Amino acid sequence: MARKPLIAGNWKMHLTVAQGVELAEQLAPVADAYSDREVMVAPPFTALHAVTAAVKGSKLHVGSQNVCWEKQGAFTGEISPVMLQDLHVGMAIIGHSERRQIFGESDEMINKRVLGALEHGLVPVFCIGETLEEREADKTFTVLEQQITDGLQGVNEKQMESVVIAYEPVWAIGTGKTATKEQAQEVHAFIRQLLEEKMNKNVAKRVRILYGGSVKPENVDALMAQPDIDGALVGGAALQFESFSRIIKFT
Ligand code: PEP
Repeated sequence: MARKPLIAGNWKMHLTVAQGVELAEQLAPVADAYSDREVMVAPPFTALHAVTAAVKGSKLHVGSQNVCWEKQGAFTGEISPVMLQDLHVGMAIIGHSERRQIFGESDEMINKRVLGALEHGLVPVFCIGETLEEREADKTFTVLEQQITDGLQGVNEKQMESVVIAYEPVWAIGTGKTATKEQAQEVHAFIRQLLEEKMNKNVAKRVRILYGGSVKPENVDALMAQPDIDGALVGGAALQFESFSRIIKFT
């Protein structure tokens, strides 16, 4: 079965409710027009309700930027998978490098989030990536293997088919520096090989691996032409209709 490309927009801590609704309403018909690919936007928590309501009936997916592993309780500042389900939010970005680096989220915590999301039927968009220092020290593959091993601990083969992996080299996020298509393809092929070794060939073939890090209208086509790149996780360029719709329409 061919992997359906996924173009995901991470709005981070941007956009008011009104701005988010306007952007989502513009994007919904574009998502509907391209049935060979999936599109997701991840608004800040404040806009989730309004955005899901605004795009109801369209194929545009709405995701969250994080999710807790518990259903409810004393977890100040967190959002529960059940609360997301209540809003018909079907996907959750987990382990974004900003969560790891700024907020100190560990592989262990990220693993709990992934397991919690899966338990509640949410699709985890599980982010991994090396820093510039790690790349320069030739540690890229070791770091990614560790993040995958720890972050996906306890995920079974069946569950793994619904996990989306986003490879986001930290040095390419928000910096304007994109990995070359060759660099990205090399890492994506490595991740797929690792999935085959850890799980099986079938899982490796089915799991979607997105690239993220300064994806723009100018580089999306070349990246998407790589055999192991199954989509993009987009930050800055996902905030404007013109740029994100062009990315959705990659050829
Ligand atoms: C991101 O936030 O996941 C990201 C890749 O950001 P940008 O596209 O701005 O580099």
